[in-house]
Amino acid sequence: MEVLHIYNNVTRQKEEFKPINPPFVGMYVCGPTVYNNVHLGNVRTFIGFDVVYRYLTYLGYKVRYVRNITDVGHLVGDVDEGEDKIAKRAKLENLDPMEIVQEVTIDFHEVMGLFNALPPNIEPTATGHIMEQIETVQAIIDNGYGYERNGSVYFDIEKFVADGNDYGKLSGRKIEDLLSQQERVSQGQASSNERNLEGQQEKKSQLDFALWKKADKGHIMRWRSPWGEGFPGWHLECSVMSTKYLGETFDIHGGGMDLKFPHHDCEIAQNIASTTKDPANYWMHGNMLTVNGTKMSKSLGNAFTPRQLMNGNHELLDQGYSAMTARFFMLQTHYSSTLDFSNDALKAAEKGFKRLQQGIKTLSQLTPTGDAGLNTAELEAQCRAAMNDDFNTPILISHLFDGIRYINSVKDGKATIDQASIDHLKALYNSFVFDVLGLKAEEQQQDDGLVDGLMNTIIALRQEARSNKDWATSDKIRDHLAQINISIKDTKEGATWSHEE
Ligand code: AMP
Ligand code: ZN
Repeated sequence: MEVLHIYNNVTRQKEEFKPINPPFVGMYVCGPTVYNNVHLGNVRTFIGFDVVYRYLTYLGYKVRYVRNITDVGHLVGDVDEGEDKIAKRAKLENLDPMEIVQEVTIDFHEVMGLFNALPPNIEPTATGHIMEQIETVQAIIDNGYGYERNGSVYFDIEKFVADGNDYGKLSGRKIEDLLSQQERVSQGQASSNERNLEGQQEKKSQLDFALWKKADKGHIMRWRSPWGEGFPGWHLECSVMSTKYLGETFDIHGGGMDLKFPHHDCEIAQNIASTTKDPANYWMHGNMLTVNGTKMSKSLGNAFTPRQLMNGNHELLDQGYSAMTARFFMLQTHYSSTLDFSNDALKAAEKGFKRLQQGIKTLSQLTPTGDAGLNTAELEAQCRAAMNDDFNTPILISHLFDGIRYINSVKDGKATIDQASIDHLKALYNSFVFDVLGLKAEEQQQDDGLVDGLMNTIIALRQEARSNKDWATSDKIRDHLAQINISIKDTKEGATWSHEE
């Protein structure tokens, strides 16, 4: 198998990818917290790992891709105290938390389908693994790294570090800096949030994080445990479910950059404390989708839902964009760089994606005209080299456009092509555009011609009726169209039509 390099966030360098047990690869990606429909930022991270999954599969690896659903334990503000994000929304809407979970999970799957992201092989939920999480908490306590206080269990960071373990190695945070930072935070909280302080006082050290939390009276998501009724801490499920389905140490662990700390650093600590093993050999992080330079996030109010993007219903958009345009837009930037969302950038991506599709269509219609004018084997090697260099999709796309330029010049009679090159290019675009980048030909665009043709015929018939003063027929046509949300407008230049979703 050829050499693939992956940027490993633990060592902070690109490393040759060596799976533990080739051709099998285990990959765990932190999935969504299902309290609110995913926004485009979340979608970016999942598309990034979809491409990783697709390319590993393309290389011949047998990947087991596990992506969880967080349906309990993720508290508002990503902290240890307070309300569960899902329970909070359930209360507001007078629903059971599991109704929220169901609704948002269904939406998430629909959105992933729209963006042509392949489903993971296993999609475990936190609520479905409470027993396993309790067992892991017990193992951490038994190994001396967890302690119970008033029905909650915390991770003992100082003991962990004293035993020679590195806490914060992924994010590069130093224990002293974390301590002084925590000091400042808790001083700030002392005046404003007494509950928070209560939780902090239970801990031996401010840095300790919750493995299990006691559920107080109002808390509806609760399970019985050796420490009383409660619920698991946010970081626990990923340690537990990755170990269960991929083993104590597996190949790749992914998630968004914002999860490095505390989520992934805590995950590593939990794994080492319970199994003595580092969970993953390669830690990959997708960078943030931003809006005017600020991370897209629900809580900041700058988030777009995929549906807003598609119907253009947002103040920053002057039109709607297809999911494939947005996917192409995202893949034009390397997964580890930030990407700023803007109407202009999307417009440019729409144009680029159309050009790519048009080129592929042209290729499908080419016939041999002479000798090969391009070394297609070299083009393929360049495409692979780009992807082997830490999944460099923007470089891959630029090579694909080199090929499209050649295809267009063959069409214009400025270059020649032979049958072998045509066949090779067809296979190459099929693999890289559809299988690896996961782009789909846009059906809508292909339909557009047909719908336009039909509408022109209908409008011409209505025009004829009008010239014959057959108002009954012309009104009938208009009313029937109105029923399917197509409105006809008569202008000086003739009738035009539009369709409202
Ligand atoms: P959450 O549901 O908040 O746990 O987020 C699900 C995934 O989306 C995580 O991997 C986050 O790191 C990622 N994510 C959240 N916001 C953004 C963003 N603006 N850009 C890219 N990824 C994001
Ligand atoms: Zn996680």
